[in-house]
Amino acid sequence: SAAEVGTPKRTKEIIAKYGFSFKKSLGQNFLIDGNVLNNIVAAAELDKTKGALEIGPGIGALTGRLADAAGRVVAVEIDQRLLPILNDVLSDEPHVDVLHGDVLKLDLAELFREHFQGVDGVSVVANLPYYVTTPILMKLLEERLPLQHIVVMIQKEVAQRMAAKPGGKEYGSLSVAVQYYCVPQLVCTVPHTVFIPQPNVDSAVIKLTLREKPAVEVEDEPHFFNVVQASFAQRRKTLANNLTALCGKENREALTALLHSIGIDPVRRGETLSLEEFALLSRSLLEKGW
Ligand code: SAM
Repeated sequence: SAAEVGTPKRTKEIIAKYGFSFKKSLGQNFLIDGNVLNNIVAAAELDKTKGALEIGPGIGALTGRLADAAGRVVAVEIDQRLLPILNDVLSDEPHVDVLHGDVLKLDLAELFREHFQGVDGVSVVANLPYYVTTPILMKLLEERLPLQHIVVMIQKEVAQRMAAKPGGKEYGSLSVAVQYYCVPQLVCTVPHTVFIPQPNVDSAVIKLTLREKPAVEVEDEPHFFNVVQASFAQRRKTLANNLTALCGKENREALTALLHSIGIDPVRRGETLSLEEFALLSRSLLEKGW
């Protein structure tokens, strides 16, 4: 059955049968470990009332298991050469739609309207192509799609940055952006050996549970994210030094006074600020027109 694609033997057979050659430039590292595949699906908390959106189905190792677990599956694959393979492997799965396209260029709101009508909640479940992990995740979050969970295999360092708490060197603008929209949870780390071909980085599965509303109250989101970016611009610099770029050198003293007045020491580094402190900072800078 389709659920059996994710083994070393079947993967090699399918690759040989169709004469498929891997494209490194598309981040093609296929999963061949049933336990890892099952852990990914289990983390997504699917049932037959729910939908799954898979990005990059490859030859369908994860897709077959999603078909067993969910009521509807939509898989978006950029590599045209994989479409005939996916059609064969998933031929007995009428509730699975395979679409050819670049997920970064797709109108996802429209995809949801067309393919997930009447579904009681959708989660993204994928072994992502590592070269576009962050753009894909930021697109999913910024477009405010009605998602329940995002369960994805990504590069381990990126997963650690997404889940990082303030104070450490892994905490940065990606941590703030992800935690603004989601509650992150590291599901597991996985060795190179569960993929064909093996990637030359370590991998991890991360689960992002979408919040009903953002973690902190922000008046002007683009401004908030600007302030966050500016605060991390040069990690060795103090917050006051980094923010001077935003407020202007001539306002340096007023900026220092403002930071003191909201209880944030100007000599702190951006990496020590919580989401609440960034929100407070953004609101206070806005009031000054910075
Ligand atoms: N899900 C399969 C598995 O776990 O064995 C394959 C995962 S592989 C890491 C990533 C897949 O994403 C590849 O099939 C690749 O062709 C596809 N892909 C790469 N860039 C993409 C994009 N921009 N949009 C959609 N699919 C993409």
